[in-house]
Amino acid sequence: MGEAAPRTWMPRERWDALVRGEGCPLCAAVAATEPADAYGHTIADLDLGRLRLAANQFVPGYCVLICARHVREPYDLSVRERTAFFEDMMRAARALEAVFAPVKMNFEILGNAVPHLHCHIKPRFYGDPAPGAPIDPDAARVLLTPEKLAERVGAIRAALARPHPGDQ
Ligand SMILES: [Zn+2]
Repeated sequence: MGEAAPRTWMPRERWDALVRGEGCPLCAAVAATEPADAYGHTIADLDLGRLRLAANQFVPGYCVLICARHVREPYDLSVRERTAFFEDMMRAARALEAVFAPVKMNFEILGNAVPHLHCHIKPRFYGDPAPGAPIDPDAARVLLTPEKLAERVGAIRAALARPHPGDQ
């Protein structure tokens, strides 16, 4: 998450080890007790996902929801877990909608750099630089001041905490 796409495949053994969860940076991210690292700031632990605000806020509100369990694909989860992860995606995205008022929400489950289930959740804004296409969240670097970061995290947490009609 967050890093530039590599130009070549990593060694096959490294890839297979990552798939098994060995040296997996996202396992480390869901186990971390520090709220912030170079890639982002933890907003909340939802039912099955840890929601993190990306450190690079070139796309305002860009978050990554990391599955608490190491699986390569969503279909490797049990049905209950799939439902939980999807609902976490919905909760997170609705909170981002409330805070950032985007014109579209993008959900990207890719995992080509790190094969541990995670979803990039990207609010899209009218006039952004990738009309009609996915946006590269690392096309430029926008780092927030600690104050602005705390404000953004707080606003998303508050939106997550608000009950929503239709939820049970
Ligand atoms: Zn992992």
